[in-house]
Amino acid sequence: MKWLLVGASTIAAEYMIWAMRALPGGSVAQVTSGSAARAADFAARYQIPAWGTDLDAALAAPGIEAVYVSSTNEKHHAQAMAAIAAGKHVLCEKPLGMSLAEAGEMVRAAEARGVVFATNHHLRCAGSHRAIRAAVAQGRIGRVLSMRVHHAVHLPPHLQGWRLNDPAAGGGVIPDITVHDADTVRFHLGEDPVEVVAQMTQSGLGQGVEDSCMSVWSTPSGVQVFAHDSFTHRFAGCGLEIHGTEGSIFGRGIMTQKPVGEIELVTAAGRERVPYSNYDLYTQGVADFEAAVAGRGRPAADGADGVKSLAIALAVREAARSGTRQRIDYGGF
Ligand code: NDP
Repeated sequence: MKWLLVGASTIAAEYMIWAMRALPGGSVAQVTSGSAARAADFAARYQIPAWGTDLDAALAAPGIEAVYVSSTNEKHHAQAMAAIAAGKHVLCEKPLGMSLAEAGEMVRAAEARGVVFATNHHLRCAGSHRAIRAAVAQGRIGRVLSMRVHHAVHLPPHLQGWRLNDPAAGGGVIPDITVHDADTVRFHLGEDPVEVVAQMTQSGLGQGVEDSCMSVWSTPSGVQVFAHDSFTHRFAGCGLEIHGTEGSIFGRGIMTQKPVGEIELVTAAGRERVPYSNYDLYTQGVADFEAAVAGRGRPAADGADGVKSLAIALAVREAARSGTRQRIDYGGF
């Protein structure tokens, strides 16, 4: 698949370019950026043959089949809408937009244009998460009672920019990390949370946006979910636990971009290690996207998944801002 990158971003440089190139016939043909200098530098650094600042011109270039949008969050909507209008398949970073209306519009536009539109929620592509989901679905822990997500990390220095000080660009830990939790919880539980309560704070890095948040969600079947998200925790480690009537699953170190961590299942029979495949998460996500474009299945996380993860994150932020319990509005999705 021949890709156009929209955004000279860190995530593209560190993971996505390599994921696209890892697949048979995969190539990155062009990059666009808001800055000519940044685009030129990025293209040279990552051996991308063409670069520019004119998105429409890039979309009109011959042979581009798919567009990966990884700019700052406030740009996703306009850039994805332009790509969809040009008839390109789109893999868009999370959060899809700044509002539910933006995200919904993107998904509906893609449906109307007949192109594949997917959200880059990488965690559901991980072998570790797929193994946990399978164990839950097989009834290994019985009826699920609760889930705890530990996603309090330390934002690396090279990412300490707009996420910490620019609400207009979509900064804050909730659009950055809680949105991933939202998708992961939906992936494991197979249902959509209905209500949330939350508190957020600035605990050392955030300047004008929250850098830490704790929230509690409820689901239609009565599962209680706790999510702890932060940019300021150096030593907390990450993971998730799912507790059921017949067992508990502990996924340690698995809320990451790498195929690492360990999974333990604890039941009346004792403790056992749950094996999983340690392939690259992002390559799997691109492979699932390409398969969907070829008419084989759906992307790992489609547009509706992206709308829903954003809806949950927005409800968490509103609950924290207002100090009130919030019902989650999925905007008809
Ligand atoms: P970056 O800050 O690296 O890049 C975002 C944008 O910032 C770029 O598109 C670029 O704009 C601009 N930019 C990059 N470097 C500079 C610079 N040195 N000076 C000024 N501007 C610069 O963000 P990330 O790569 O961390 O995140 C991009 C998107 O990807 C976000 O939406 C984020 O939520 C998402 N993301 C998703 C992950 C996942 O696993 N799914 C992981 C990490 C991020 P321009 O395009 O104009 O060049």
